[in-house]
Amino acid sequence: MNAPRLHEDTIESVKERADIVDIVSERVVLRKRGKDYLGLCPFHEEKTPSFSVSPSKQMYYCFGCGAGGNAIKFLMEVGKQSFADVVLGLAQRYQIPVKTQAPEDYREFQRQLTLKEQLYEILAVAGSFYQHALRQPQGEEALIYLQEKRRFAPETIQFFELGYAPAGWETLYRYLVEAKRYSALLVEQAGLIRKRKTGDGYYDYFRDRLMIPIHDIQGRIIGFGSRTLGKDEPKYLNSPETEVFVKGKTLFALDKAKGAIAKQDRAIVVEGYFDAIALHASGFKYAVAALGTAFSQEQVRTLSRYTESKQVIFNFDADAAGLKATQRAIGEIERLVYSRQVQLRILNLPDGKDADEFLKSRDDAREFYQQQLDNAPLWLDWQIQQLIQGEDLKQGDRFEKVSKAMVRLLAKIEDGNQCTHYVQKCAEILSQGDGRLMPVYNKNILTSLGRLRKSLKRNKRKKNNDIVRDNKSNLEPEAEAISLQKKAEQNLLKQAEELLLKIYLHCSSYRTIIINALEEKDLIFSLPQHRFVWQKILGLYSQQEQNLIANLQDLSTEFPEQLAKIGHLFHLTETQASDLVLRVPLLIRAAIAALEKVTYEKNLNYCLTKWKKLDLSADFEEMKYLSQEIQDAKQKIAELEKERYFSIFDLVE
Ligand SMILES: [Zn+2]
Repeated sequence: MNAPRLHEDTIESVKERADIVDIVSERVVLRKRGKDYLGLCPFHEEKTPSFSVSPSKQMYYCFGCGAGGNAIKFLMEVGKQSFADVVLGLAQRYQIPVKTQAPEDYREFQRQLTLKEQLYEILAVAGSFYQHALRQPQGEEALIYLQEKRRFAPETIQFFELGYAPAGWETLYRYLVEAKRYSALLVEQAGLIRKRKTGDGYYDYFRDRLMIPIHDIQGRIIGFGSRTLGKDEPKYLNSPETEVFVKGKTLFALDKAKGAIAKQDRAIVVEGYFDAIALHASGFKYAVAALGTAFSQEQVRTLSRYTESKQVIFNFDADAAGLKATQRAIGEIERLVYSRQVQLRILNLPDGKDADEFLKSRDDAREFYQQQLDNAPLWLDWQIQQLIQGEDLKQGDRFEKVSKAMVRLLAKIEDGNQCTHYVQKCAEILSQGDGRLMPVYNKNILTSLGRLRKSLKRNKRKKNNDIVRDNKSNLEPEAEAISLQKKAEQNLLKQAEELLLKIYLHCSSYRTIIINALEEKDLIFSLPQHRFVWQKILGLYSQQEQNLIANLQDLSTEFPEQLAKIGHLFHLTETQASDLVLRVPLLIRAAIAALEKVTYEKNLNYCLTKWKKLDLSADFEEMKYLSQEIQDAKQKIAELEKERYFSIFDLVE
């Protein structure tokens, strides 16, 4: 097959430019050890780091599982991407010109780039529009809110490019689409307008709101946060996810904070945009906000790229909701904090205040905040404080509850010294000032810890066996459900396959991408008429590509029946065509996921059938194997379902 051949020059420049430490540290929290870096291996489960990265050799190697290679290999493995995709991605990132053997591949690459560039441009224009509106009479209320309620100085408002989205339904739409002549589809793809439910026309996504632009690390606007000025719900509303705006990856104000984070060697994470802005205005320029959603591992990894000692301080609201958010965020990055990949501290401000409120609350707030920050407890100490908060340890049942919770908390500590330290600390708390009791509690906690760890291990084993048993007992209803779904599935599969073929036929620049995707995942078309046309397409591959449709139509004399079934694929209306082109990459992904899902379902059915016939008492190895296969297939199907779900939504639209 004629896969796209990248020019050696491009590959070489990419290799030269891509730094292994930079690339790996986007996925793995790395700490310096001597001249190399060390982290938890992303390719196998481990609790103590054995994954090393050498900047001098530009190689990575895992002493646990043997995975190793250069930056390109790392990205291929970790992202399940082809060599060409990785090189193209890196070339784009480092703005290295791409040379290929075939000129049309280059054009295709340019076009994908262009889509993103266009979105950035539209978002930037929208940002200036909002900023301008804030200074008009209509934006007065918003400006007063910022100046008086939030007490932001003009320089702060300017620096964060704050703005105002006017109250009408189509103000931005008219400006961008009618005045500035941007395509409505692109503006919709930028997440700024939505199609009306009635089908005709669009309306603005943000109306009568204070607008806070969200930038990527390079400082480009990728989306907006907003706050209502009236009573509209929700109070805070973010841009929807788009090609350029991925919430779980983005941190608000990181573009402005990264320098200070590196310099101060620590980062503050707050909940709200206004907290981050207020902190910057008060000189704490290493603050970022978590975008409303739960804090993710990926976000903490992004952050830790800029600090050598991996110090992250969570400063969420100290009210009940904020405490919950803190617990959730800790849970999210538990693995990283228990293994001490990240030095996490928790800062709760007095009187349940958030950072913005706190900084406005007194004249010496800045110094006071600094003090609070420097004294913020390590997360385990904070957790222990939370456990004993408001508990009367003189009461037998309270004492019992707290000591059990302590043991659960300590059970996951991996480092021996750290564990000993906290066991002592807890024993001290439990002994309530009676020094003679300290060693007794110390021993009690250690005994309970040992017991808990053992039973955790046992449970883990038992759980695996239960999964085996569960699969057996759920077999019948499962098979039934599959047959019930079959019809709907067939329809979707047909749609997905047709879509891929249409894109292939009408958008010639995507042909290599489709062929590669199918080959890489080892997928075939399921419906006979589609398999037929695909074979013919591959047969014509080396010939005149632009005459593909004409060539296929020529086959109708020879294969009239087959051609009748697929003839409709050869034609597109103009709107269909322009609509298709704009969403091609997403559509391909969704369609490929639909096809892939079928493959996994086949495997699942096959395993379930085998499972039925299995003698559970005799074939333990086979049982283990099948049960694993079944679990894997189910999980993969669930993942693909999510990816493919998009296609249903998108196709119906
Ligand atoms: Zn490994």
